[in-house]
Amino acid sequence: MNIIPIKLSMTKAILIKDQKNLLVDTGNPKDYATLWHFLDANLEDGEPLDYILITHAHLDHYGCAAALHDKTGAKVIIHERDYETMKLGYNSPIVPFSFTGKLLSPFIKKDPKKIVANPVEADIVIKDEETDLQPFGIAGKVVATPGHTPGSISLFLDDQTAIVGDLMMSFFIPEKPEKPLFAYNVDEWKNSLKKVLEFEPKKIIITHGNFYTYNDFKSFCKKVF
Ligand SMILES: [Zn+2]
Repeated sequence: MNIIPIKLSMTKAILIKDQKNLLVDTGNPKDYATLWHFLDANLEDGEPLDYILITHAHLDHYGCAAALHDKTGAKVIIHERDYETMKLGYNSPIVPFSFTGKLLSPFIKKDPKKIVANPVEADIVIKDEETDLQPFGIAGKVVATPGHTPGSISLFLDDQTAIVGDLMMSFFIPEKPEKPLFAYNVDEWKNSLKKVLEFEPKKIIITHGNFYTYNDFKSFCKKVF
């Protein structure tokens, strides 16, 4: 398995090359050219992109999903609790949580019924707490990790890497765990942190920032609980 991060304007996408090719998140709508250039360079001629997994329905994560789906035919995967939001082109709830998130709050547009990105209807809707990805050609599973948004999901891969979307965000030091700017439900968020703790990943990849070691993540959780 090869895990390749793709730096985009505000966030990052991650290409997982295993038996099949799966892209985690797609960046903002304006990231399309960068994203396509990267995929083109990292997929052989004729090698398909099979899946696009969206960690949650915020525009900086599914912004290019519609265009990429049209271009490649890759099947789009999302959790059912964020499915409708992406289908309508809206943003999942933006509820300030961290200190910085609260400071930024007055400057952030939070109208839940505003179209922020090209709508896309997912082909595969995750409903369960855990979904094995082996049948999809990826050695790992999708785990429901709500809190940042209702339908936030993470990937727990068999090589002990966790890709956790916006469960945490690091704006100051890319390798230092920080709370996300936004969390619609803090109890669900804490419960999701526990799932990552129990998985004991060697490496935890986030989308705003870089990655964490398990020890740094454990110390962060001690402060939270
Ligand atoms: Zn988000």
